[in-house]
Amino acid sequence: MAFKDLLSWYKKNQRQLPFRQTTSPYKIWVAEIMLQQTQVVTMLPYYERFIHKFTTIEALAKVSFEEVLPYVTGLGYYRRFRLMHQAAQVIFNHYGGQFPNTYQDVRALPGIGEYTAGAIMSTAFKQPYSALDGNVMRVLTRLFMIDDDIRKNTTIKRLNELNQSLIDHKEPDIYTHAMMELGATICKPVSPKCDICPLQDMCQSYEHHIQTSFPYKSKATSKKHVKYMTCIIYNDQKQYVLKKETQALFEGMYLFLQVESESVVYTTEWLLEQGIEVEHLEFITQIKHVFTHQIWEMEVHAFKLLNLNDQQFFLATVDHPMFNMMPKAHSKLNQFLK
Ligand code: SF4
Repeated sequence: MAFKDLLSWYKKNQRQLPFRQTTSPYKIWVAEIMLQQTQVVTMLPYYERFIHKFTTIEALAKVSFEEVLPYVTGLGYYRRFRLMHQAAQVIFNHYGGQFPNTYQDVRALPGIGEYTAGAIMSTAFKQPYSALDGNVMRVLTRLFMIDDDIRKNTTIKRLNELNQSLIDHKEPDIYTHAMMELGATICKPVSPKCDICPLQDMCQSYEHHIQTSFPYKSKATSKKHVKYMTCIIYNDQKQYVLKKETQALFEGMYLFLQVESESVVYTTEWLLEQGIEVEHLEFITQIKHVFTHQIWEMEVHAFKLLNLNDQQFFLATVDHPMFNMMPKAHSKLNQFLK
């Protein structure tokens, strides 16, 4: 059985990387965030310094982001570290500093997407969850000659399901590591080393000599994607909380409150910091708005207003003129108001 060969191959041939020699979800998480957009050889010294300085989630949660920044400066894409710092605070405040151990709780943390949640669940908690990164996508599309565009969500969903169906339930951690390692060291983008690949006998693209035709990826769009949690907050009188924008793009217009996050827990805390106490009611919808230079991906949630302690926000019913002074990105949410 070829996938058994893959696990044996990994056990013999794995690179000795510090974040692979641990089952600490904290260390695995830090490594996964650092590895986003960064090569292993570049991130390793940063990883060692970071773990040495911030030995626990508590140590990370208790400092300001400004104190974290010097330990990641040079790695780029700093939003990931800001979100990681937010997540450490959520873990410290809500889980007593213990990393949550269910997929749903891990996935709900700021900055943790499907891939990172799958990697943590499978390698730290040994649960059979798919962790589909670029390396694994390349291996799967070559093995099964899948020529769908890997930029599309439907393709990612299909590959995720395929990867999920292949996971070894006895050793999900080894399976996840092995697939990533195979992609990183053997099934390389250019010149894959098929002659020493443990999956060669089941690889369809190898059989047809078209390995490097996979995966297929369409041309990129240049627009920046921003993910927001957009909050529809209202009280018993059906008055909605709005903010008058001061930033250049929509200065003077009224918007619902939103924060760059993918976590309800973090958003609720962020609202509290703004002086708005709420109770989360429900997820409403996911909606995208395309601007000239960026795309807003808004996850819209309803919240019940419990307390409003800040004068900078407004309470208005839907017939108020403020609702006519909204940018289209938010006025299209009015259809979901009660
Ligand atoms: S045989 Fe070649 S193309 Fe197929 S999985 Fe192995 S390295 Fe990749």
